[in-house]
Amino acid sequence: MSDDPIRMGIRSTGEVAKVEQFAPMPSKVPGRHRWIGIASHTLTDETARRAHEGATVKFGVQTLIGFSIGCLDCEEPYEDVFTQRCRGPEFDWNGSQ
Ligand SMILES: [Zn+2]
Repeated sequence: MSDDPIRMGIRSTGEVAKVEQFAPMPSKVPGRHRWIGIASHTLTDETARRAHEGATVKFGVQTLIGFSIGCLDCEEPYEDVFTQRCRGPEFDWNGSQ
């Protein structure tokens, strides 16, 4: 597994949790957004501790408190830029530039 935090897991509020499986990111196409969805869940003390220790933690709709869609590259929310060209960096998150 890579040392790159993006490849290692999910970065959120400074915490990096390991995940077992990654979906392949589509290659960057200049000017085109790569949309991602970001979900936020509440965690109990126990769930947070287990996730921090590397346990597999499953999330469901019962803990979902937010969901947003934005572009991985320009980091703008969908509603602000969906009609515009992406101005994000020409960086391939799969490891090449
Ligand atoms: Zn973009």
